Amino acid sequence: MTEAAPLPPAALRLRVDRAALAANWTALDALSGAARAGAAIKADCYGLGVDAAVPVLAAAGCRDWFVAHWQEAAGAVRHVPAGQVSVLHGPMTDAEAAYARALGVRPVLNSLPQVRRWLAMGGGACDLMIDTGMSRLGLPLAEIGAPEVGMLEIETCLSHLASADEDCAQNAAQLARFREVRVAVHAQRFSLCNSAGIALGSDYHFDLTRPGLALYGGVPRGELAERITQVAYPEAAVIQVRELARGDSVGYNATFTAPAAMRVGVISVGYADGYLRCWSDRGQVLWQGQQLPVLGRVSMDMTIIDLSAAENCGEGDWLGLDYALPEASAASGLSQYELLTLLGRRYDRAG
Ligand SMILES: *Cc1c(COP(=O)(O)O)cnc(C)c1O
Repeated sequence: MTEAAPLPPAALRLRVDRAALAANWTALDALSGAARAGAAIKADCYGLGVDAAVPVLAAAGCRDWFVAHWQEAAGAVRHVPAGQVSVLHGPMTDAEAAYARALGVRPVLNSLPQVRRWLAMGGGACDLMIDTGMSRLGLPLAEIGAPEVGMLEIETCLSHLASADEDCAQNAAQLARFREVRVAVHAQRFSLCNSAGIALGSDYHFDLTRPGLALYGGVPRGELAERITQVAYPEAAVIQVRELARGDSVGYNATFTAPAAMRVGVISVGYADGYLRCWSDRGQVLWQGQQLPVLGRVSMDMTIIDLSAAENCGEGDWLGLDYALPEASAASGLSQYELLTLLGRRYDRAG
């Protein structure tokens, strides 16, 4: 073994625009009216990285954090007080309830068995999820009057909108049910809205909103388009430039053939990095304001790009993936959520 050499920088990086992230939280907090905005930071802040994003959101003023898995709680607590963190998946086991108490984070109780478990383990501050029509997690309305619920020390009572990104009757129906919940359940605060819900207006806001997608640059409803800016900028380096002759084929299964001599570049991003095969022969990458087409199939670790319009682009140069989320979603067929959360582990997230 020789002495460990310093690790050279990755040829794949994710630039997080911290100013845009802070501005998105501030805009969503303002749009939440009298309610405060929190932040959904599950799935490593939708792929952007908890370590990059949470300190920025905390500095902007965010004080309420939602993770999904118990395994995600410790990452949040590295940056913010444990008492501000809620774990959406709830305590399925005594071990999870004990972990919540030891770490000081709040479990979101999702069923009467979870309510009983929490009380049996000694109780303490918790959140309570009510199902108002999504049939996912939470107590059904029929159970909110159970005596055990009255014994809880509930910080936030929440529910989740299933179709807030659409104009449909389900939104008003869930709102009406949540209003019944507010009368029946005793809690410090009530919270109904995700990002899209914030745009449904003040009736929906209650005390706390829980944006995720829009913090990270997603636009789930047109009303938010003016107020939200792109945060995630994935970039890949050119690792080889090649000159093709007319008739040369490109990539797996030769789905593209050069119609004439042309210059192409191989960039170091592929489907293992969340740049899925739906971009094959269809994606565009950006170089100095120019759009350069993807040629042929996306591979696991590489994608081939037409450099005909970018004469000066060479090996080592960085190209941006087209990640303006609403447009990228329309072009790829992936949801804005998928585009963000697919971004893999090989990105250098330092910058
Ligand atoms: C993920 C999640 C959110 C955030 O939703 P977005 O649509 O990303 O804003 C809010 N609340 C709950 C319960 C969630 O699971």
